Amino acid sequence: MFDTLLIANRGEIACRVMRTARAMGLRCVAVYSDADAGAAHVGMADEAVHIGGAAPGESYLRGDRIIAAALATGAGAIHPGYGFLSENPAFVEAVEAAGLVFVGPSAKAIRAMGLKDAAKALMQEANVPVVPGYHGAEQDGAFLAARADEIGYPVLIKAVAGGGGKGMRRVDRPADFAAALASAQSEARGAFGNPAVLIEKYVLSPRHIEVQVFGDGARAVHLFERDCSLQRRHQKVIEEAPAPGMTDEMRAAMGQAAVRAAEAIGYKGAGTIEFIVDGAGGLRPDGFWFMEMNTRLQVEHPVTELVTGVDLVEWQLRVAGGEPLPCAQEDLRLSGHAFEARLYAEDVPAGFLPATGRLAHLAFPEGVRADSGVRSGDEISPHYDPMIAKVIVHGPTREVALRQLALGLEKTQVAGTVTNLAFLGALARHEGFGRGEVDTGLIERDLDALVAVSAPNARAMAQAVWAGLGLDAAPGWDRGFALWEAPWRSVMIEVGGEEQAVRVQVTGRGGVVDLGEAQVAVAYDGQRWSFDGMPAAAVHVEGGTVTVFGRQTLAVSLIDPLDRAADAGISASVIEAPMPGLVRAVDVVAGQTVAKGDRLAILEAMKMEHSLTAGRDAVVAEVLVAAGDQVTAGAPLIRFEEESE
Ligand code: ADP
Repeated sequence: MFDTLLIANRGEIACRVMRTARAMGLRCVAVYSDADAGAAHVGMADEAVHIGGAAPGESYLRGDRIIAAALATGAGAIHPGYGFLSENPAFVEAVEAAGLVFVGPSAKAIRAMGLKDAAKALMQEANVPVVPGYHGAEQDGAFLAARADEIGYPVLIKAVAGGGGKGMRRVDRPADFAAALASAQSEARGAFGNPAVLIEKYVLSPRHIEVQVFGDGARAVHLFERDCSLQRRHQKVIEEAPAPGMTDEMRAAMGQAAVRAAEAIGYKGAGTIEFIVDGAGGLRPDGFWFMEMNTRLQVEHPVTELVTGVDLVEWQLRVAGGEPLPCAQEDLRLSGHAFEARLYAEDVPAGFLPATGRLAHLAFPEGVRADSGVRSGDEISPHYDPMIAKVIVHGPTREVALRQLALGLEKTQVAGTVTNLAFLGALARHEGFGRGEVDTGLIERDLDALVAVSAPNARAMAQAVWAGLGLDAAPGWDRGFALWEAPWRSVMIEVGGEEQAVRVQVTGRGGVVDLGEAQVAVAYDGQRWSFDGMPAAAVHVEGGTVTVFGRQTLAVSLIDPLDRAADAGISASVIEAPMPGLVRAVDVVAGQTVAKGDRLAILEAMKMEHSLTAGRDAVVAEVLVAAGDQVTAGAPLIRFEEESE
């Protein structure tokens, strides 16, 4: 067996593979792009090799550089992870030609499953049920439309080279067929360079149930099923094992079909047979059909690991090292129930837009398995998939495991970027999902409720303001705090893109935060803070932004009035009131020349005086207020003449 393993990947899967490889006593070599020089997987490895630019095409997809790195570091084997080169048969051949071991199936097996049409034909031969449909070579539009009529509507048009839901169109009526075909073909040509499609019956109430298989090149076993029906736009969101409602009879039928599929291509390593299941009338042993095989380790493999006790990466490495299958089918048992939720940096209310940014803080609670490739302080870069982590739980029953998932998500702390944490939490608490009523349309049907943003909790807001002002850390609380003469202090904050003025009053052992619509009492008992009588939540404060980890994460930015006045002075020709207040004095008149830093006016907000200064040398064009005026936040006070170039 090899003693050094190169991992041709990044992020969570590179870290995941290294954890097991390390436990097996293997030396680990990482590869990295320009964007990943400081990444977690690089830090974890025994040695790391730089392979090129940030774009995947310049690094993680450069098989030649990866093989050169393996040879230079004495690696005997390459683990591809998932994505990137994991299902690229030419890469497998190049690895083997270089005298290295590819941890995965043969190039031939990957090719056999690479195109959906050929794979389906092969599976039909191996007696594996496939979705009724047409998957021949003829691509003429009228011919395909006739096949769709035979199959019966609704039908699904799929790119034969497809992946990630691209080039896929559901068609409900013959009249819509031609347009849907054209758009699927053009999307497929763009994404895969291959416009060919197949037509299949669209399964109503579809459930996505896949079977984990493992082969040693001769024999194969299955490690039961995963249900991945909770999808958004054909992308998996939460996966579980086993599938809710699964019967022993159907499990045996699916497992045996999956093993037949794997053995038909002499499969070696970890693979997944994806089936589409008609969930309309409950699960039936004749109600599942082959969709495709993924010839690699899957993102959601951990749920299988937790219900079987098998470390799939360990099996991959042992079989790649020449060992036979580590155990027989009879030795494999299911135990309990597992869920995995994919935590992403994405802006859910904005339509699940991928987000980037620096993860100011990242922490997971005890009792969950968190597979992650980033740490507090790491950057979510725009170059790669914005997955932060997979939050995985295992309980004795589905009900318990689902509660653990909801709680685990609630106690997961992420600051610095928006995430889909609240959306995942809403899914984990979804009643239908709780009853096991899963199908691929669940998320879309209930999307509005699942993405609804609840109004920020007043206690959490108050705590954010309190912590943002440093009041929770202020010395002398037990002696009575009397720094301010003013009874109230006014603060501008920003929550969810909206600015808001709040007032804070400090009294002997606490105070009040006045949020306008609500007042929150703050108290300190000498050890702990409470807000309206409830204990304070965990917070992270960084760079003027406070993140409160309550039942829902709340990020609040405090706007420093002086910063804002200065910013306004630099960037704009209009000096605005940084907060609501009373104009105490105006120091300039129209036509006056001022120098950068000169005081222009004094604004009093809740008994605190703020000097507004010029951000640049300028000539005052207009004074829009007078001493004694009451102004609102953002009100224009003074206008400069435009800068002459
Ligand atoms: P891709 O390779 O692009 O991910 P798949 O063939 O794996 O495409 O299908 C992705 C998803 O599309 C499935 O998980 C399922 O939700 C849905 N789907 C696929 N085939 C059908 C079908 N015949 N009927 C209904 N839904 C389907």
